[in-house]
Amino acid sequence: MYNPKSMKATEFISHEEIQDTLDYAEKNKENIELIDSIIAKAKLRKGLTHREAAVLLACEIPEKIQECYDLAQQIKKDFYGNRIVMFAPLYLSNYCVNGCVYCPYHMKNKHIARKKLTQEEIKAEVIALQDMGHKRLALEAGEHPTINPIEYILESIETIYSIKHKNGAIRRVNVNIAATTVENYKKLKDAGIGTYILFQETYHKESYKALHPTGPKSDYDYHTEAHDRAMEAGIDDVGLGVLFGLELYKYEFAGLLMHAEHLEAVFGVGPHTISVPRLKRADDIDPDQFDNGISDEIFAKLCALIRISVPYTGMIISTRESKEVREKVLRLGVSQISGASKTSVGGYAESEPEDETSEQFDVSDKRTLDEVVRWLMEEGFIPSFCTACYREGRTGDRFMELCKNGQILNCCHPNALITLKEFLMDYASEETKKIGEELIKAEIEKIPKDKVKEICRDHLAKIEEGIRDFRF
Ligand code: SF4
Ligand code: SF4
Repeated sequence: MYNPKSMKATEFISHEEIQDTLDYAEKNKENIELIDSIIAKAKLRKGLTHREAAVLLACEIPEKIQECYDLAQQIKKDFYGNRIVMFAPLYLSNYCVNGCVYCPYHMKNKHIARKKLTQEEIKAEVIALQDMGHKRLALEAGEHPTINPIEYILESIETIYSIKHKNGAIRRVNVNIAATTVENYKKLKDAGIGTYILFQETYHKESYKALHPTGPKSDYDYHTEAHDRAMEAGIDDVGLGVLFGLELYKYEFAGLLMHAEHLEAVFGVGPHTISVPRLKRADDIDPDQFDNGISDEIFAKLCALIRISVPYTGMIISTRESKEVREKVLRLGVSQISGASKTSVGGYAESEPEDETSEQFDVSDKRTLDEVVRWLMEEGFIPSFCTACYREGRTGDRFMELCKNGQILNCCHPNALITLKEFLMDYASEETKKIGEELIKAEIEKIPKDKVKEICRDHLAKIEEGIRDFRF
């Protein structure tokens, strides 16, 4: 009983609809006429339905795949320019009552070091993150009603926003915690969070049950309907994601797009972000024990097709991916990346002893933030530390309006340059600074409105004088 407007998980993510979609895609994967018409529709930049996108995913004709890649690159350029937004995860606690079989924090893992940061420790972590230049965090915590109750999360958010070390400040805290009640989402909203992110892990209900044998997260419906409760509580920006490698990627892709269609159908605004994590090696987790791992090629294809299917949604990858993979998918549509991440509880202020690691997964990209920023600029991107929309109240549909009205170059672009300038002044190495100053000089010319260009120049000069925190 597929119904994107339904509030029941099994109706807006209907298993039968996904199966029908996959059959339809398989039957039409060489139907050139249909494929061409879908690509032509994607060129209108209004997105694709899960069925249309599934056909492109099934298609194996090299020229057609290349057309999709070219289009993804073009849409990325038109909608996001060459900006890449930077963030870092901050793990508060790895105590967890769930039994997720792919995560080393699962309750039965008795040998991983269990940690929960005190407010003092959070302060030290945030100062270390600010000293690197980070402005945007993603909070992570295991689910534990007594050790990590909502009050602990709220207190931690307050601590994070309160710390102003030298010129540093965390200006946006996104939150990635377990599915919860409308009441708790309201509390998170009142605490001033940015995006509420919750990964579905897998949309396949039967697999979901097997992968989540115990704990509150084993309730598929409650988990899948969490974004609806968050929206109902007034959190406008919600983030979706699946953990690729758990189930068949074609199934997950259709489910992910159906979830986005559901949010659009019910709330009039789709997901703010989509994350594309892949299963990784970690303490007591061997990715080879899962049969559905995907190659770098398929991963790139998924990123490109997400970009053309939901053009207005930000796409996030983490340091799970290597520098090489990140390089490829940044061009195909990824708009946010983490840099210099630690996936342990603590670890920014002080490194963990090797025999006491609390890491959630192995980090592939181990470069410093300065190195990541320099690399991005050398690749022709503008690393952005912008958090302006959230702070100007441009969330949900107001944020979408900004994208749809093509104001990115008059808004995101100067904001990226201003926040990059702050980074260069306060945290960059001499080499990074040199490349960055050249980049800003060239990129400022691309701002279409003269007035905006003038204000941007003025802000840049004021940053040189020591003033901070300008935004459009
Ligand atoms: S994925 Fe999340 S809920 Fe599951 S065990 Fe890990 S921390 Fe706990
Ligand atoms: S202006 Fe808004 S949409 Fe643009 S980069 Fe900043 S926060 Fe993102």
